Amino acid sequence: MKKALVIMFISILILLLASCTSTDKEQDEQPIEEKGSETNNSLEKDSETVEEDNNSDNMEVEEEAEEEIDKDTVAQYRVADDWSLVPINEGTNEKVVLLTIDDAPEKYSLEMAKTLKELNAGAIFFVNGHFIDTPEEAEVLKQIHDMGFVIGNHTYNHVNLKEIENDTEKQRAELVNLNDRMEEIIGERPKFFRAPHGVNTEESKKIVEEEKMVLMNWSYGYDYFQPYFDKDKLVTAMVTGEGPEVDVPYSLLKDGANLLMHDREWTNEALKEIVIGLRERGYEILDPNLIETIK
Ligand SMILES: [Zn+2]
Repeated sequence: MKKALVIMFISILILLLASCTSTDKEQDEQPIEEKGSETNNSLEKDSETVEEDNNSDNMEVEEEAEEEIDKDTVAQYRVADDWSLVPINEGTNEKVVLLTIDDAPEKYSLEMAKTLKELNAGAIFFVNGHFIDTPEEAEVLKQIHDMGFVIGNHTYNHVNLKEIENDTEKQRAELVNLNDRMEEIIGERPKFFRAPHGVNTEESKKIVEEEKMVLMNWSYGYDYFQPYFDKDKLVTAMVTGEGPEVDVPYSLLKDGANLLMHDREWTNEALKEIVIGLRERGYEILDPNLIETIK
């Protein structure tokens, strides 16, 4: 009698456990599957292009790509009001910096992407439409995207949006036409927008929202100030966060700092040491795929 009771009790327990697990799975896995399939498409493209390379490279890319899928499934950081990146949940590493490369892909972006890839450091490349007009230029953008970098919108013609503030259609063309063009090339619309010179208007903010992009300026950058058109000076400024020659005698480097760099000769030369220097100071280079976007 006792034995029968025990067996019955165990059977009920097993049934209960089984039902719990299946519901949990359904809830957890649904969004992952949706995102995963999107990412898989772009991965297929990855392996196609990589097939031309030798086998060991191919394996490496595939392994890294698999990691990216897992990371991509859940956003871990969001853009704060001061444009820094802050963890969404407690327990996530706060000591991160985001690398961004503006005015891409003019001359050095592909080389910069390769440098970053070797260092396993992620970045957002903010692209201008007038740099992707020709098929050759478009191919460069596609390569950067296929390497796993996040692509952002930096307007078609790098205009100061304030100067065309009264022309709604012109503003719309600057943002939306570029998204259309980039979708043709990389197969998806950009999720991030950065205005030239960081100048946004009421209208452009509206368009950014309609296009489901996340607006982003930056925390600091020095490569567009003349004293820092120099590799060594730029490395020091970016790694310390200090730009004493442009009236920043204090450090702007902090947790979540959003670092602005450009497609420039000296930045290209400095990039590797900037990444190494920031890591030596204990900062993780944030994978931009972990930033919350608008669905
Ligand atoms: Zn720019």
